[in-house]
Amino acid sequence: MEILICGTAAAEGWPALFCICEACVRARELGGKNIRTRAAYMVDDRVRVDFGPDSYLHQLKYGLDYSRLEHLLISHAHSDHWYPTDLHFRRKGYSDVGDRSLTLWGNAKVERRFEEANGDHFDSYRVVFRAVRPWQSMDLGDGVVAIPVQAAHDTSEECVNYVLEKDGRRLLIGHDTGWYDELTWRLLEDYPLDAVVMDCTYGPNDHSRGHLGCASVVRARDEMVRRGILRADGIMVAGHFSHNGGWLHEDLERYFEPLGILVAYDGMRFTV
Ligand SMILES: [Zn+2]
Ligand SMILES: [Zn+2]
Ligand SMILES: [Zn+2]
Repeated sequence: MEILICGTAAAEGWPALFCICEACVRARELGGKNIRTRAAYMVDDRVRVDFGPDSYLHQLKYGLDYSRLEHLLISHAHSDHWYPTDLHFRRKGYSDVGDRSLTLWGNAKVERRFEEANGDHFDSYRVVFRAVRPWQSMDLGDGVVAIPVQAAHDTSEECVNYVLEKDGRRLLIGHDTGWYDELTWRLLEDYPLDAVVMDCTYGPNDHSRGHLGCASVVRARDEMVRRGILRADGIMVAGHFSHNGGWLHEDLERYFEPLGILVAYDGMRFTV
C-alpha cells in the first residue's frame, strides 16, 4: 500500500485559523513542515480515510484525482474528519462522475451528518452508505480489507480507528483516540501490524484521555511491541498535532527521533 498523509493537524489546523499563540506565530514564520492541515490519508488512489474541510486543498496540493476514489472511510463525525457538505458537489450539475459510485463508510452520526448537509441524496450523488461496526471487517476490493478498531475518543458516537490490510501487510491509522482499553489491545493482537500512525494531539503535555501526547505515543509503541502487535522494526509515526502542544516540527523530531518514531508532516509518503 502506498500511504500519503494529507494532513497532520487537529481540528483547528496549525497555524490555527485565528490564533496568535507563539506556536502559531512561529509556524507562520517558519512554514514548511510546520504548516499542518486537517488530518486525512490516501491509501493508494482508491481509498481515503477521513474527509475534512481541507480535502479540496489536498486535491490541489498533492495532485489527487478524487474521481478515482471508491471508498471513503470516516473515523468519526467531528468536523475536522468529516465535512459532508463537500460531497454535495458530486451532484449532477456540479460534477460529472459518470457511473462511478463512492462507498461511504461510517457510524450512525456520520450518516446523520451527511443527511443534515445533503438530505437523502445518496442516490443522486452516487454515494452508497455502509455502516461501520468495530471489528467487522470491510472488503474494499482489490485485495484491500479494513478493520475498524474501537477508539477511546468521544463517547457520544462510535468512533473508530482503521487497520488497513493488503498483501499480508497492515497499517493502523490510530486517531482520534486516547489510550485503548484492555479489550481493544487484546483484539489488536490478532492483527499484527507493519506500520502505525498514532494520535499525538497533546504534544509534550502528557495526557491520554480522548487523545494522546508524545509520552503516550512512546508508551503505545512499547505496548504494541510487547504484545506482538507491532513488529520490532515496524514503522511508528506520530500525527494529528495541536498547536496547544507548542512543539514545532523540529522540536517533535528532537524528541521522537532517538526513540525511533517518525514525526508526520503534510505530504509524507511511505509504503506498507
Ligand atoms: Zn481530530
Ligand atoms: Zn495557536
Ligand atoms: Zn475527534
